[in-house]
Amino acid sequence: MLDSIKKMFSGDEDVAVSTTGKPDISREKSAELYAKAKTFFPGGVNSPVRAFKSVYGTPLFIKKGDGCRLWDADDNEFIDFCCSWGPLILGHNHPKVKDKVIEVMQNGMSFGAPTALENELAELILKNNKFIEKLRFVSSGTEAVMSAIRLARGYTKRDKILKFEGCYHGHSDSLLVKAGSGLVTFGETSSAGVPKSFADETIVIGLNDVDALNKAFADFKGQIAAIIIEPIPANNGLLLQSKEYLQTLRDVCTANGALLIFDEVISGFRVGFEGAAGHYQIKPDIITYGKIIGGGLPVGMYGASAEIMGHVSPDGGVYQAGTLSGNPVAMAAGIAQLTELLKSSFYKDLNNKTQEFVDAIQRFATARSYKFKVFSIGSIFWFAFTDKASISNADEIDPASMEKFKVMHRELINRGIYFGPSGYEVGFISSAHNKIDLEKTKRAIFDSLDLVFKK
Ligand SMILES: *Cc1c(COP(=O)(O)O)cnc(C)c1O
Repeated sequence: MLDSIKKMFSGDEDVAVSTTGKPDISREKSAELYAKAKTFFPGGVNSPVRAFKSVYGTPLFIKKGDGCRLWDADDNEFIDFCCSWGPLILGHNHPKVKDKVIEVMQNGMSFGAPTALENELAELILKNNKFIEKLRFVSSGTEAVMSAIRLARGYTKRDKILKFEGCYHGHSDSLLVKAGSGLVTFGETSSAGVPKSFADETIVIGLNDVDALNKAFADFKGQIAAIIIEPIPANNGLLLQSKEYLQTLRDVCTANGALLIFDEVISGFRVGFEGAAGHYQIKPDIITYGKIIGGGLPVGMYGASAEIMGHVSPDGGVYQAGTLSGNPVAMAAGIAQLTELLKSSFYKDLNNKTQEFVDAIQRFATARSYKFKVFSIGSIFWFAFTDKASISNADEIDPASMEKFKVMHRELINRGIYFGPSGYEVGFISSAHNKIDLEKTKRAIFDSLDLVFKK
């Protein structure tokens, strides 16, 4: 039974390669659920990266999470470093978040009218963030970014935006655009269904490239509404940028009357309460948040100065709305989670814990001369199969190195360690990961690295 399901739903070459380490965990129930899911959803999933296309085996169907742990449909237990792709900075099912959600949902799920909870979450954020004065809640990161782009265009009365190869900003039309060939180009659509005319409004350049930046602003003088960047690019590896480069973006925007948008959907509330803007002490014009802000429920937001936000409907002419925006249950989760983050030494403890963890892994790999680097910032880390001292541009990632990640991912799963199913994805540490969990994880990582590099 298991073997036939495996053959049906995993790449055939995977099945042919016998595991190099521990025997594969049972995925029987997950495989059954996946077979059924494939009859309902394209690829059996509701978001593509969940489909395990670039790692071994069928996707694991999760039935429970608690603290830093996950349990799948076959009752396998994992220490989780995906953390729902970032939102769960307190781990799964944190009692404070759960209790607040249960309390609020006793009074109903949605009203389509304002509630005090929206004020409460907004006040928590704005009181502790010197970079924005007003905000608008939405229901996802994609929506936050899409709205921020419209606001920048409405505010500057310009159409073009500039983005970077290797940054992800959600799946809206203007942003599913990748670099064409050449230093400065109009983008090419990276998804079917995006009109070419949309891609023509998006300029795409490489990260950490000042010449391309200057050339873009010279070629399209007076036409660029905004630069949008993940100030901590963490969706295509972890492509850390220098403060100087981010400051250059700030200066170029100011000099050209363009707005600087920091897409902090991952970095916001992650590297510190004020996110990357606070970390680098650089003030963007518009910031987008998502993921952590909703405590695991769907929340996003965009914020800016009161003057810029004054352009948003109903005060201004930039239209943006949402039936479930500011949903009370989602607000409750956000309030409970952000309240924990504001406790003294929360980030210091989390970031120190992460630093010790990644340092130990790097020491191990370096001692054995493995071509392997752990890049990290705050409680975000990324495993790169490289000998480069730093990687700040998407071109510097060797696609062939992903084969090594694939082996490592399988070995980690077999040792009860769950990572997002792609070598381009970063890992996250939550406050629920304790020393013993991280020790266990390190041992599993050491064993897996030995197997990856054995060949
Ligand atoms: C996750 C992410 C998004 C998209 O957010 P969704 O909630 O998935 O729509 C946008 N920008 C960045 C930087 C992200 O990490």
